[in-house]
Amino acid sequence: MERFTKSKTMIFPREIIVGHNTTSQIAELCDRISRGKTVLIVEDKKTKKLSGEDIKKILSKANYEVKERIVSSPTVSEVNRLINYAHKNKIDLLLGVGGGSVIDVTKLAASELKRPFVSIPTSAAHDGIASPRASLKHSRGSVSKTAVSPLAILADTKIINKAPYRMLASGSADVISNMSAVMDWELAYRLKGEEFSSHAAVLAKTAAQLLIENADDIRTNTEESSWIAVKAMIVSGVAMSVAGNTRPASGSEHMFSHMLDHLGPGIMLKGKKYKRPMHGEQCGVGAIMMVYLHGGDWEKIRSALKKIGAPTTSEELGVSKKKIIEALVRAQEIRPERYTILGETGLTNDAAKRLAKITGVI
Ligand SMILES: [Zn+2]
Repeated sequence: MERFTKSKTMIFPREIIVGHNTTSQIAELCDRISRGKTVLIVEDKKTKKLSGEDIKKILSKANYEVKERIVSSPTVSEVNRLINYAHKNKIDLLLGVGGGSVIDVTKLAASELKRPFVSIPTSAAHDGIASPRASLKHSRGSVSKTAVSPLAILADTKIINKAPYRMLASGSADVISNMSAVMDWELAYRLKGEEFSSHAAVLAKTAAQLLIENADDIRTNTEESSWIAVKAMIVSGVAMSVAGNTRPASGSEHMFSHMLDHLGPGIMLKGKKYKRPMHGEQCGVGAIMMVYLHGGDWEKIRSALKKIGAPTTSEELGVSKKKIIEALVRAQEIRPERYTILGETGLTNDAAKRLAKITGVI
């Protein structure tokens, strides 16, 4: 018998607090997880008003020295500025209060500083609130980077429910797209012998199924919808922690989405409405098509997205048909080392067109 030499490290959040008015628990949470009393709230102008100011008040009362930094965009220079500031001010704990961008910037800075951070989402627009990965913008699209898992997650559904419904729908679509990501991962395991974790795969699928099965409840846009969606996002984040990478939640549908970002906003002006597609919306549409390629139940994915009110067509997405096809043809260029249903060379133009037509995307 071969000697057993396998080893693996998994890092999980230590505390997850989700529900109504959980913001009131922030001081007790910090007492439990922080060794020092100097905390830095990272926020943007909107989330400062929505939640950051309240958190500052509560923590100041509990004798914390509270610093604040406003982040305007998820870029390398913002991350570096945050790192310098935290160094100078001897910050013990970082709190990322905001949507995906604020949390991603906090995550990367915390990882570099080797300081713990708490993820405090003010919306549920994608599964980054609980994952160890972050994405940053650059001049042409975005890059995904390894950071750290939050030491704790504090999700206040009362606040999250105030965010526009479109964000919740997009975040739900992002988690539903785990279905195609897991299919890609299984394929890479069978075809390329890539390391595969069945536990991580089951968790990622469970998160997606939770939303597929509760699609009608999500649509009600009540505080309970936020509760269901956030729970699914956290399970999805845990799946990535178990895998040690984003495989369980990011496959060909994410490559398609990143390629759309790379090709430019691709805004279709419909009347006077100016709309820029969101990450999760693009991944949802990608998942419909990729599950079709896998021979899976793509109609189930599409019907769940429709029920939720997430886009299922190029028109609803606000992207031209031409750009959808180009993104399908070139998607595998995003991460050539990550094997998916798109293979090594991607789809031909004809195959891409046919795929988008059959699934009703164009
Ligand atoms: Zn995503």
